Amino acid sequence: YHNQIQDMKGSVRVFCRFRPLAKREEDLGDIPVLHKADAFSVDLQRLAPHNDTRRFDFDAVFGGDSPQEEVFRDCEDLVQSVVDGYNVTIFAYGQTGAGKTHTMYGTHDHPGLAPRSIDSLFHLIHREERQGRKSFTVKAYMIELYKQEILDLLVEARRENSKEKQLQIKKDAGRGIMFVEGVCERQIHGPDELKAVLAEGERRRHTAATAMNTSSSRSHLLLSIIVEATAKDNDQVIYGKITLCDLAGSERLKKSEVSGDALKEAIEINKSLTALGDVIEALSKGSKNVPYRNHKLTMLMQDSLGGSAKTLMFVNCSPASSNAEETLTSLKWATRAKQV
Ligand code: ADP
Ligand code: MG
Repeated sequence: YHNQIQDMKGSVRVFCRFRPLAKREEDLGDIPVLHKADAFSVDLQRLAPHNDTRRFDFDAVFGGDSPQEEVFRDCEDLVQSVVDGYNVTIFAYGQTGAGKTHTMYGTHDHPGLAPRSIDSLFHLIHREERQGRKSFTVKAYMIELYKQEILDLLVEARRENSKEKQLQIKKDAGRGIMFVEGVCERQIHGPDELKAVLAEGERRRHTAATAMNTSSSRSHLLLSIIVEATAKDNDQVIYGKITLCDLAGSERLKKSEVSGDALKEAIEINKSLTALGDVIEALSKGSKNVPYRNHKLTMLMQDSLGGSAKTLMFVNCSPASSNAEETLTSLKWATRAKQV
């Protein structure tokens, strides 16, 4: 029943969310140029020399005054799908500072999609368990993809974790999910435990970025929660998985990044986001050859993009006039993804 509603909406939905103009931007003379036209469309006003307005349509648009609970309400059905055995991915795309982390994780006072999904997931699991026909096991892993390296955020970083010990991506045929060989999959017993694991992973991500002399906004963060439902009468196991992905900032190369590590970093991010766009475009055209293997990011998401998987993409945007060109690029990227 839940999934019938979901299926009618198609397997990929794209939501646009833009944040309010920050005080600091206002002080610098920025004005808001992104306006919600209606529940499904947004207008980007371009100042001189363009002097035009471009409209973009989405499955939903959330403006600067949309609270976290409103955004979550439109995603809640996906959590039910995970309990029902589907693979789900929610990811946030956009330039650094556009609100990706706010949307995915939020703050203590304004929790985002991850903590809300976690609460909802355990609520649904407990409800089904009370009906007595199924028992559930929940596991989680959290990884960071920085350049071509996968870092396990749930284990202490080890210096000897060199190239030959790199985590490899495999397909777990039994569970029908992608699998990072050797990754630490923690068994989770309740929502608070999972939130604590998440906080642990975020701390380690921050430490790792500092050690590599970069920012955590230059890596992709993936949190995967695996739900195993075992039917008590015949022991049949159904696997569902939700991946919450806070992508690296999509901004184009800055003048300060013309050489060295920052350049390599920027090139790799660009490659990964292009690969993601290519996969989504192939899916939207119904192409038989979906180029998942072009990048580790798309390999990691292979089981959650296309097929019976359900995908929700947020394109996060800044409303500021000074970011209009980046915003235009993001909106165009997301529109290509929307035609699935
Ligand atoms: P990103 O992860 O894309 O780099 P952040 O999520 O860190 O961006 O957001 C940048 C800043 O804007 C943060 O201070 C964040 O709290 C704020 N912010 C983002 N989205 C919103 C929103 N919808 N409402 C209020 N503040 C927001
Ligand atoms: Mg961020």
